[in-house]
Amino acid sequence: MNLEEVEVLFDREQVMARVKELGQQITQDYQGKNLLVVGILKGAFIFMADLVREIDLPLEIDFMDVSSYGVSTVSSGEVRIIKDLDYSIREKDVLIIEDIVDTGLTLKYIKDILTKRHPRSIRICCLLDKPSRRKADIAPEYVGFVIPDKFIVGYGLDYAEQYRNYPAVCVLKPSVYEK
Ligand code: 5GP
Repeated sequence: MNLEEVEVLFDREQVMARVKELGQQITQDYQGKNLLVVGILKGAFIFMADLVREIDLPLEIDFMDVSSYGVSTVSSGEVRIIKDLDYSIREKDVLIIEDIVDTGLTLKYIKDILTKRHPRSIRICCLLDKPSRRKADIAPEYVGFVIPDKFIVGYGLDYAEQYRNYPAVCVLKPSVYEK
């Protein structure tokens, strides 16, 4: 990790301890259900890989990749599906795994699309939540950490496709993107 560019917010140990707690909670809540874990690419891939190993239940996994329309850095809420799920979610208890909920517009769109496909239930689990920026009426049922409005990289999250491999959840120093 280049500590001139990032500041550690939660180290690997803190993240793993919280992921373990989330896994235990989900294990309790989904006893006897038909759990399908849906990861939103690419940001959620590391969180999801760690989380599913802390869920002690039979489960299936699938992935979806979406992208916002336009080039603006501000989320418009208009989302294009780049990769859809491989299988039907009818009668499944769907748990959407997202890296971070910011305005909530992306997740609102995804949740609305998936709800129309008749799952038995649908919930959201995110690693990070920035509630101060929320625009859409969306409240994740499982949240790793509530954080202030800072730009996060590491543990799957990127800036220009870099930093995803950093093991800690980090704040990207503004000097990097204001250059
Ligand atoms: P929303 O529609 O909730 O505003 O946007 C959610 C998406 O924006 C996330 O899935 C993530 O891809 C991106 N995003 C929002 N905040 C951050 C951040 O602090 N760091 C990174 N790397 N991506 C973010």
